[in-house]
Amino acid sequence: MRPDAAIQIFEEVGAIRHGHFELTSGLHSGTYVQCALVLQYPKFAEQLGRALAAEFMDLRVDCVASPALGGVIIGHEVARAIPARADGKPIRAIFVERDSLGTLTLRRGFRVEPDEHVLVVEDVWTTGGSTCETIRVLEEAGARVVAAGALIDRSGGKIELPVRTEAIVDLKIESYHASECPLCRSGGVAVKPGSRFVRSGA
Ligand SMILES: [Zn+2]
Repeated sequence: MRPDAAIQIFEEVGAIRHGHFELTSGLHSGTYVQCALVLQYPKFAEQLGRALAAEFMDLRVDCVASPALGGVIIGHEVARAIPARADGKPIRAIFVERDSLGTLTLRRGFRVEPDEHVLVVEDVWTTGGSTCETIRVLEEAGARVVAAGALIDRSGGKIELPVRTEAIVDLKIESYHASECPLCRSGGVAVKPGSRFVRSGA
């Protein structure tokens, strides 16, 4: 899938919004990308998962791991598109999630085998923080993280991770620390675009 074809899908479903936002990372931005609005359509999730998996066809991947919640659906679809393992075992899609202290961890009985080759998949990279933390959790559990992928890298290529990285779309969207945000300086108040969905679902 060409990057412009992916962007067209995001724009068609209104998954790219403009305003003044406080992102999950705490950074402020004039643009917000809500991948859930794309991934709510299994057809698009499948197409994008296949496109992201295609970036890693030269690697051995036994398992896909994602940070919950944002990475779960796309991680599942990437795993579906990964070719069968040489040892005949089925490809898995697992996820890490935050415990009561807010630390990402493997729960629900998820385990990794020693030297299991894992691909970490997330929906959007802003700072890459969740992917970085996911890599650490898996390596501490004994896996070998071979690469990391995302639907959208909104850092403009500034992401630095300890493994190879591939994103379907590189969006150069500026993000700012609140103290340096030009939208705040001009008197605006940042909104947390995801928060009302969290509350209505609680
Ligand atoms: Zn701001």
